[in-house]
Amino acid sequence: MFRVDTIIIGAGASGLMLGALMPDKDFVIIDHNPNAGAKMLISGGGRCNITNEKLKSNNYLGNQRFIRNIIKRFNQNSLLSWLGERGLVPELRKNGCYFCKISAKEIVDLLKREIDRKKFRFSTKVSRVEKSGEFFQVHTNGGVFQARQVVIASGGLSFPKLGATSIGYDIASSFGHTIKPTKAGLVGFTLQPEQFFFKSLSGISTEVKIRVNISESEALAPNKTKLKPSVPIIEGSLLFAHKGITGLAILDASLYWEKGKISIDFLPNINIEQIKNSKKNISNLIGLPNRVAKAFLVKLEITDKKANQLTNNEWNKIRELKKYSFAPAGTFGYSKAEVTKGGIKVDEVDASSMMSHKVNGLYFIGEVLDVTGELGGYNFQWAFSTAFVCSKAIM
Ligand SMILES: Cc1cc2nc3c(=O)[nH]c(=O)nc-3n(C[C@H](O)[C@H](O)[C@H](O)COP(=O)(O)OP(=O)(O)OC[C@H]3O[C@@H](n4cnc5c(N)ncnc54)[C@H](O)[C@@H]3O)c2cc1C
Repeated sequence: MFRVDTIIIGAGASGLMLGALMPDKDFVIIDHNPNAGAKMLISGGGRCNITNEKLKSNNYLGNQRFIRNIIKRFNQNSLLSWLGERGLVPELRKNGCYFCKISAKEIVDLLKREIDRKKFRFSTKVSRVEKSGEFFQVHTNGGVFQARQVVIASGGLSFPKLGATSIGYDIASSFGHTIKPTKAGLVGFTLQPEQFFFKSLSGISTEVKIRVNISESEALAPNKTKLKPSVPIIEGSLLFAHKGITGLAILDASLYWEKGKISIDFLPNINIEQIKNSKKNISNLIGLPNRVAKAFLVKLEITDKKANQLTNNEWNKIRELKKYSFAPAGTFGYSKAEVTKGGIKVDEVDASSMMSHKVNGLYFIGEVLDVTGELGGYNFQWAFSTAFVCSKAIM
């Protein structure tokens, strides 16, 4: 039987960073993909949004104290210096996002370079892990591997075509860990029949403000700035798509959406009082792409005419576009989701080492934990920060 000190399950962002941070340790990284970093390679439009200069714990859903304790030990600056020392200087773009300059391959290659090639076991699928005495037995289609320490870096359920499986949750449950129910996150919404007219606008994008999980009375109070401290107003783009709605603001909204209504301000930069007396046609005044404006006017049963000719009743209908509320039918699901919400309960994991409170020598890093970042590089930062904390504990 093959025996090493440590087995890392998953050669994604967290598993690669862990290996790269402890090159001299005795470990293998097992992955059922034929290569490392499959998700990283397609992430951020092929350029991998590595981290964010505005990193804070409240960019994440999850236990804030746990998250703070981890990101403060290896934050965006620690990551950027570590990468810089190895020749990778990411580019700062909009909203504090750092991307690879040319392609995501730059960071994947860098991480792989730090790890001895002989330590990878690709095309090897883990089916279960057991522990007897001091040693774990990791069962794979390539035989049983033995180690004193096992790190679960196997990610969540999103994008199964890139290798996502439930193995991390299965192993954790088999050792008595609690799994917070999982859901697709950073994902588009599907629609109910009342909003099917959105589909005819497929390909068009517009700026919006979104509030999620609103009640009927909240839908009528658009001036409130916050629902609950944890549910912000989300500003950004909405993209009409063939399957429903997506775009940056919708993806972030999906993190907070449970079930129920969302409210979209389709006219975020329009002050109705200021345009009421205009002699221009209403479709040209409300700041929406022309086809979108016309589709809404048809839906609201308003003929496109000069603004100063609209009746009070028609203005009231236009005002509705500042708090257009409806319940999405669901989401596009794991096949299109960038992340998985939920996962291994963090109260059962030690934030100073990433080790299980239940099983000595069993560690969890990355997305498999019940911590989910917003769009903007926060999920890779989480993978890297947890890998750093774990690397200091591995013997
Ligand atoms: C399309 C897309 C774009 C994204 N863009 C960004 C972005 O720009 N910035 C950002 O911060 N985040 C982004 N994310 C999210 C980010 O990719 C993840 O949060 C991150 O990869 C999680 O790292 P991880 O190491 O926990 O898991 P992963 O990177 O998913 O790695 C898990 C590894 O475990 C392996 N594995 C799974 N099951 C088994 C098994 N049974 N046996 C062996 N191996 C197994 C998988 O093959 C995989 O290689 C994106 C995600 C997607 C899907």
